[in-house]
Amino acid sequence: MSETTRILVVDGSEVSRTIISRSLNDQLDDADITVCANAAEANQQLQQAEFDLITTSLMLPDIDGLELCRQIRGSDKHRFTPLIVISGDADGRLLREGFAAGVTDYYDKSRGYSGFAQFIKRFTHRQSRLEGHALYVEDSATAAAVNGQMMQRHGLRITQVESAEGAFELLKECLPGGPRYRDPFDIVITDFFLKGSMTGGDLLHAIRTRFNLSQQEMPVLVITGSTSDERQVEVFHAGANDFVSKPIVEEILMARLRSLLLIKQQFSALRRQAEKLHHLAITDMLTGVRNKRYLLDNGEDFLNNQRNQPLWAMLLDIDHFKQINDTLGHITGDRVLEALGTLLLQSFPKDSMVVRFGGEEFAVLIPNCSREEAVARAETLRLAVERLRPVDIEITASIGICSTLDHPDQSLSKFLSLADKALYEAKSRGRNQCCIYTQQGIEAITLSVNTPPTLDARGGTS
Ligand code: GH3
Ligand code: MG
Ligand code: MG
Ligand code: MG
Repeated sequence: MSETTRILVVDGSEVSRTIISRSLNDQLDDADITVCANAAEANQQLQQAEFDLITTSLMLPDIDGLELCRQIRGSDKHRFTPLIVISGDADGRLLREGFAAGVTDYYDKSRGYSGFAQFIKRFTHRQSRLEGHALYVEDSATAAAVNGQMMQRHGLRITQVESAEGAFELLKECLPGGPRYRDPFDIVITDFFLKGSMTGGDLLHAIRTRFNLSQQEMPVLVITGSTSDERQVEVFHAGANDFVSKPIVEEILMARLRSLLLIKQQFSALRRQAEKLHHLAITDMLTGVRNKRYLLDNGEDFLNNQRNQPLWAMLLDIDHFKQINDTLGHITGDRVLEALGTLLLQSFPKDSMVVRFGGEEFAVLIPNCSREEAVARAETLRLAVERLRPVDIEITASIGICSTLDHPDQSLSKFLSLADKALYEAKSRGRNQCCIYTQQGIEAITLSVNTPPTLDARGGTS
């Protein structure tokens, strides 16, 4: 078998094509690189030859890069070939549509090309080893030893068990909170007939229905002794991705594992992108705290879920912030907001909801918090803002708080408006102070926090 890795590079820019092919040639031992300037040339090459990996830019002179990806995925020859899009940082369209178009992963060219070949190596069939953690279910000790060693030689990490019941227990340990949650399996390889009361088919059924793991999230390869049509149908019905029959042929087993691991890799990349998109959608980019959208979508539930514990709302507004913008400029103003966001995230326990409520106004919902603790937190925060001195400017803030202890059964907007009234009172009393809205009305917090409770980083008071 040839050790050459054939790579097709599609890019409209001659400079980019040169840089990409040079860095691959320099860093890969035996790469055979073909360059194309547009999709038409690429399609011609793809018909004539078989490639181990394809890279494309997102914008091509003739058609859209993602459209080229769809065409490649629709072709017979390159349906499973790793397809890397080289793009600028987190291009929104790529994140939204890229994986549906069949993109295996994307490379952010703003990282530079020195790490590009290393990145590519993970995807090239001929040069890379298998990567992943396999749960291997095999009841014959001899078969387990021979096949296990074979797969390990190709780079797979193997955890072997003798029965479907044993596999079931290990998969349970991968659930959130379980001991294997941080080191789960990428693939299950199971013999069909097993000792014990569960067969490989029963295990498969459990993986798909009990654990709710899709074929992309947990590929399953079944090893079967029989190649009868009925058995094949049974295996696929149970939710297997693929099967290999005994006696095992090393090349075939590895080829099947490779394409299943690629599916898993794609799934993981897609999930990472989805998580990134979700984070972007709920975060205020300047300050790092949650945005108002998040509060509006989740605040009401957050409040309702805490009905039997005291919950506090805190509104904080920077004093005379407009002056900072007017005298030192908007960019300095932004730095101040950024620093305040960081301070707020450090100041409250993880289960609090910290939100940028408006321009220079922040809201915090603090669950399960006593009156004494809330009052101390407000005053401690006010003093921390005084001490903060972001970009060497003295700033102060006014704070208003209220609690479900005094105002039970309020809607979120009513509850926040009470905190806002307290904040307004703090402003009119001269700013740089905290006010609380109790059942009796609004009063100033006159607590001297000489030894403020130390607030550890999002971990609560200590
Ligand atoms: P007060 O003590 O009464 O709160 O006075 P203030 O000047 O802080 O309040 P005001 O509401 O008059 O001004 C708020 C300013 O915040 C006005 C607006 O331009 C500024 N602002 C809002 N969002 C941003 C932002 O993202 N960056 C910067 N730099 N300024 C912002
Ligand atoms: Mg068996
Ligand atoms: Mg203000
Ligand atoms: Mg304001």
